Amino acid sequence: MEEKQQQEIDLDKVYDYAEFPDKFSRRCDKCNSSYFKSSVKGGVFLRECRECGMKKSI
Ligand SMILES: [Zn+2]
Repeated sequence: MEEKQQQEIDLDKVYDYAEFPDKFSRRCDKCNSSYFKSSVKGGVFLRECRECGMKKSI
């Protein structure tokens, strides 16, 4: 079966990297940008895309 589901990315949500690994390593799943801004919140490393604002906890 071909997997062709267009996954809608919710920018208010913080995605868990373990559940949603990068399609292309070090690139945003939504806009494919490689520019991120990083922060640490409560011991969790948060990576936010500078282009679209998609967030992942790593
Ligand atoms: Zn992005």
